Amino acid sequence: MSTIQLQIVSPDKVVYEADIAMLIVRSTGGELGILPKHAPLVTGLVPHAMRVKMPEGDEQLIAVAGGFMEVTPEKISVLASAAEQPIDIDINRAKQAYARAKDRIEKFHQGPPASEDIDFARAELALHRAIARLQATKTEVE
Ligand code: ATP
Repeated sequence: MSTIQLQIVSPDKVVYEADIAMLIVRSTGGELGILPKHAPLVTGLVPHAMRVKMPEGDEQLIAVAGGFMEVTPEKISVLASAAEQPIDIDINRAKQAYARAKDRIEKFHQGPPASEDIDFARAELALHRAIARLQATKTEVE
């Protein structure tokens, strides 16, 4: 079976490296499936749980907080602001981050001052990072 190299790097380490069959990611332009020999591509990534399909047929999940992905026919390079394999995810911390972000968002919905748009966007991103971590660990959200 043909494979493509995947490397996921965060600011402090190589989080994941393997030869894989397919990667399914959520880019700023929507969901993408990357197979071996994919056309060259550079795109932004939004917070989500990436799906890595292994040559043996099983699937692994990796939480990505956001970043960029570069694809060449032989290699996928992900430069993430943060990324974790499920085993490294602190589920309670992600649940707390989720609850904090939800609280903030609810307060904005009760009547946000116009100048606080940036904080609203920050809360939404934090919410999606927490959801990505909960999904990667197959933890039910709420
Ligand atoms: P928190 O509010 O809990 O800090 P966050 O979404 O603001 O979450 P990030 O800014 O995405 O956190 O990440 C900061 C660092 O903390 C990164 O190194 C990331 O891998 C790590 N990290 C964040 N949340 C978790 C978690 N639930 N489990 C393990 N590592 C985490």
